[in-house]
Amino acid sequence: MVIIMNPEATAEHIKGVIEAIEGAGLEAKVMEGTQQKIVGVIGDKSRLASVPVDALPGVETSVSISKSYKLASREFHPKSSSVMVGGVEIGGEVPVVMAGPCAVESKEQLFEAAEIVKKGGAQFLRGGAYKPRTSPYSFQGLEEKGLEYLAEARERTGLKVVTEVTVVEAVERVAHYADVLQVGARNMQNFGLLKAVGKCDKPVLLKRGLAATLEEWLNAAEYIMNEGNPNVVLCERGIRTYETYTRNTLDLSAVAAVKHLSHLPIIVDPSHGTGKWRMVKPMAFASIAAGADGLMMEVHPNPAKALSDGPQSLTPENYYEVMAGVKKLSGFMTREGIEPMNLQ
Ligand code: PEP
Ligand code: MN
Repeated sequence: MVIIMNPEATAEHIKGVIEAIEGAGLEAKVMEGTQQKIVGVIGDKSRLASVPVDALPGVETSVSISKSYKLASREFHPKSSSVMVGGVEIGGEVPVVMAGPCAVESKEQLFEAAEIVKKGGAQFLRGGAYKPRTSPYSFQGLEEKGLEYLAEARERTGLKVVTEVTVVEAVERVAHYADVLQVGARNMQNFGLLKAVGKCDKPVLLKRGLAATLEEWLNAAEYIMNEGNPNVVLCERGIRTYETYTRNTLDLSAVAAVKHLSHLPIIVDPSHGTGKWRMVKPMAFASIAAGADGLMMEVHPNPAKALSDGPQSLTPENYYEVMAGVKKLSGFMTREGIEPMNLQ
């Protein structure tokens, strides 16, 4: 951390700042410019957490240099990490695909979707049993019945199951049925939920919040990892901007930025990212080209009858078409080719 003193700061003010820094067990280094003095803080800045640095007399402002997230940061873990789910590696050589309906609607619908997902070549079946809907009158999900159907679909197809957990009380229940726990965009900063999934032994798919900065998102990952769960996969799913044509603005630059800032794997959800099934294919391809470790896509046996997110769901035929392209692209893009530059 660097503390920038006010141009009118007196020697007494600087002495006060040094005392505060040293009092927290850290080292202070004063640097004098022609106009201003700055004080460098050396050591673990979390020790300064209870010192209101910017409020000390004579202080103009302070700037953090090291990241507030450590476990999620590439600074402290230069090698990219991958997350193993059964025998499937997320963040390895080959991008993974998670596909399925927005919501589990019935046994028949889910089993049909699972067969389609499997046939197209995805490794994961997605489907919400607990749905965080904008309106309380919209379909809320089948809850535990939905989880049972997901587990049955896994038995039938061998697909891994990823499904959302929306409240702390349901974490154990969802973890009992699922292979990966999804924390949705609306819950990205539900710190109680993050801590609860952090205590779990299942990998967590952490979606980016609707209006979250990368720093907030990576700090959310830090909450999970800080509880002892290192298996976090990030998912870019679009953010709110002034654009209204698409449901969200899919921020593909987040893939490159996160690859630079963090060692965690990152996948992209072009379904929620665009809200339009027609845009899923080009954005899926762009995600792989940008270096994403995988995709999450909504697929429904009959999108016109879907109880949620029909407009962004792929028909089986469209899904097969997207998957054929994804496979070609994945073979073309080597992992080395999409590693961020100048890491060393
Ligand atoms: C979902 O994946 O079904 C979902 C609700 O996504 P998000 O949290 O990104 O809106
Ligand atoms: Mn959805």
